[in-house]
Amino acid sequence: MTTAVLWFRRDLRLADNPALHAALETGRVIPVYIHAPEEEGHSAPGAASRWWLHHSLAALDKSLQALGSRLVIRRGPALAALQTLVAETGATAVFWNRLYDPDLIRRDSAIKAALREAGLTVNSFNSRLWHEPWQIANKTGDPYKVFTPFWKACLAAGLDSTPLPPPQSLPQVTTTINSLPLADLQLLPKIDWDHSMREAWTPGETGAWQRLNAFCEHIDAYHNRRNRMDQAGTSKLSPHLVFGEISPRQIYAHLLASHPHPLDQRGSEHFLRELGWREFAYHLIWHFPQLTEQPLDQRFKHMAWRDAPEDLHAWQHGRTGIPIVDAAMRELWATGWMHNRARMIVASLLTKNLLLDWRAGAAWFWDTLVDADLANNIAGWQWTAGCGADAAPYFRIFNPILQAEKFDPKGVYIRHWLPELAKLQGKALYAPWEADPARLQAAGILLGKDYPKPIVDLITSRERALAAFSEVRPYER
Ligand code: FAD
Repeated sequence: MTTAVLWFRRDLRLADNPALHAALETGRVIPVYIHAPEEEGHSAPGAASRWWLHHSLAALDKSLQALGSRLVIRRGPALAALQTLVAETGATAVFWNRLYDPDLIRRDSAIKAALREAGLTVNSFNSRLWHEPWQIANKTGDPYKVFTPFWKACLAAGLDSTPLPPPQSLPQVTTTINSLPLADLQLLPKIDWDHSMREAWTPGETGAWQRLNAFCEHIDAYHNRRNRMDQAGTSKLSPHLVFGEISPRQIYAHLLASHPHPLDQRGSEHFLRELGWREFAYHLIWHFPQLTEQPLDQRFKHMAWRDAPEDLHAWQHGRTGIPIVDAAMRELWATGWMHNRARMIVASLLTKNLLLDWRAGAAWFWDTLVDADLANNIAGWQWTAGCGADAAPYFRIFNPILQAEKFDPKGVYIRHWLPELAKLQGKALYAPWEADPARLQAAGILLGKDYPKPIVDLITSRERALAAFSEVRPYER
């Protein structure tokens, strides 16, 4: 019987795990997680992701133990940790599932070459996407830069809906193989800021399936409800997808069981299309690795972003004085997640009204999101800033008041996250600075004391943004 090391990374599940499947075919399997943030570059997890990672690893270990195995935890460098484990166990093969972030591709390629050089069998697999980023190309063989034709090409190539089954049992890992206690990785915060996250989420494979099942109850309304910030209309599967606790293949197969033609039904079609945006983001970052630092539209390299640390701080901490923006930033701080519509609103305010560099916003999201994902985060920020693929035209600047009136029509979302404004009604809730001071006083609010005055004038800052953006990218209407 031969032994294979199975290197878990962001594929923290047992079902539909091709590397695990391949490892089991060799016989004995040693599952390992290697903590090596120092070699992960732009992909090293932020604080909220580390919280998720801790709980997801705990859940994975529990699932492995239930089947007779266990998770071995080691510290990096990853290559040295794998070599040590190979030497300790007599393994002849190392398997893992592929990641697509540029710094991780570089690291993994070097590890693969070194292990093969040493005579080991090393194989990597696709556990994360319907299509590898290099498999979808336009007629001239080039990568897509626009979503709709990319998605059409994905659909034409077919969406895999045949996930691998979970193993029924796993070979034992002998006690002679040491593992660090999970707590030694110090992934959890030292101060207790995670209580709302504990209430909001169940990291791990079981939590992912609970989310999917709950979401499928109302998936037929997804296209109508997905933009409403006051309703739970979206799946909230994003952190589970980021940590690989569930895969698009599994989601699609599950949908097919209740929706034989999911691409012909508006709710399920729209949902699958959003997963298509995820594939598109991975396609982009694989083909254009410079996107982690640079705008896809090179003209934006010369954009004169403002240097205004106080404005950035107010935005980060939900103190801009613009209720929908502050509500969203506080949702992010409390739960590690923010509604997609809200992400677009706060990103537009930062990059357009405040004229602050999208990279500063992306960095804050990276540290605070439980679903921080390099490809999706970069694509989302560049899209909103107007400098990415398929970008929102730079002259389209979100009006946060109109957005809030449309997508939080009764102010439920704002009142939930900004209880200090709970007594305000109508327009005053969306734009308190425009309200009659007597009305504010009746609701117990003195602007500048109980709630900030707006840090930016939405009308003049819009004009300023249009002028700055047309400097780098003259109007093309
Ligand atoms: P649903 O609406 O239920 O969608 C299902 C899944 O499709 C999501 O879980 C996600 O994997 C994918 N998806 C949905 N919308 C998008 C999108 N616009 N782009 C790419 N994939 C999408 N998503 C992340 O996963 N990680 C990030 O770091 C991230 N940063 C973002 C930053 C900005 C500025 C913006 C505008 C968007 C960002 N997104 C990011 C995309 C999107 O906001 C989230 O994926 C979505 O809000 C997650 O909620 P959900 O799971 O309920 O989504």
